Amino acid sequence: MRKINMERIKVFIFDLDGVVYLGNQLVPRADEVIDKINKLGKKVYFLTNNSTRTRNEYVKKLKNLGIKAIPDIIMTSARATAIYLSQIKNHANVFVIGEKGLQKELTTSGFKVTNKNDTQSLVDFVVVGLDRFFDYEKLTFALHHVIKGAEFIATNDDASLPTETLPLPGAGSMVAALTACTSKKPKIIIGKPNPFGINLILQQENCSPTQSVMIGDRISTDIQAGKKAGTSTILVKTGAGLEELAKYNNTKNMDLIIDSIKDLEKFL
Ligand SMILES: [Mg+2]
Repeated sequence: MRKINMERIKVFIFDLDGVVYLGNQLVPRADEVIDKINKLGKKVYFLTNNSTRTRNEYVKKLKNLGIKAIPDIIMTSARATAIYLSQIKNHANVFVIGEKGLQKELTTSGFKVTNKNDTQSLVDFVVVGLDRFFDYEKLTFALHHVIKGAEFIATNDDASLPTETLPLPGAGSMVAALTACTSKKPKIIIGKPNPFGINLILQQENCSPTQSVMIGDRISTDIQAGKKAGTSTILVKTGAGLEELAKYNNTKNMDLIIDSIKDLEKFL
C-alpha cells in the first residue's frame, strides 16, 4: 500500500451505500467527518451506481441523516449516463429499463424517453439500469429496439444489492437479461468500475486525479474506478468492505484501509 498525502487532497469522492450509510442508517459519525472536510475548504462529492433515485432525493436522504448536500455534488450513474449520451447525440429518443432517477436525468438533459406502448418511434438508445418493476413486456420492447438498431447502454452492472437481510437483484441482472436475448453486450457500462463518473467530477472541479481520493466499500467497483482514474483510494470495512477484503485477498490497489469513514478524521 502506498501512502496518501492527505494535505494534498482537494476532492473527496465518497461512495454512498456501505460507506456513508447502510440502508437508512448513518454510519456512525459520517456526518461529522464530512462536515470537517467541508470546513477545511475541501470538496466532497458522492458517487453512486444506483440510478433509481433522483439527485434531489439523495439530497433529501442525506439531509435527513444530517449531511448537507446539493444536487451538483451528487453523481449518480443515471446523471453520468445522461452526460455520456449528450456527448454522442443530443435530444435522442431513448427507451429506458429503469426507474424515476434515470428517467428524470434523461428528460431534464433533453432526451425523449419513449413510452413502452410507443412501438412506432425509432429509438437511438436502450438504457438499462435497476428497475424494480422490470417485466417481460419491457424486455420485449428493449429487444425489439435493439434489433431495429438502437444502441444498448448500461448505467451499471452490479449483480445484486445488499440489504440488512437477503440481497436484491441489481441492475446487472436486467443487463444480463437483455444480453441473453439480443446476444449483445452493452456498448458501455457507465457506472463504477468505469472511471467516467470520477472523471466528470474532476473536470467539474478542475482537479487533477492526484489531488483527489475515492472512498468506497467495494474493491471491484469503487477501488477499481479510483485506480483507473488515477486517484488515491481508500477502502472502508463497513458495508461490503470486510467481505470484499476476504474475497479478493488483495490490497495492492488501495492506498489505505480503514474500519470506517469516521477514521478518516485522524488523517485530516
Ligand atoms: Mg457501496
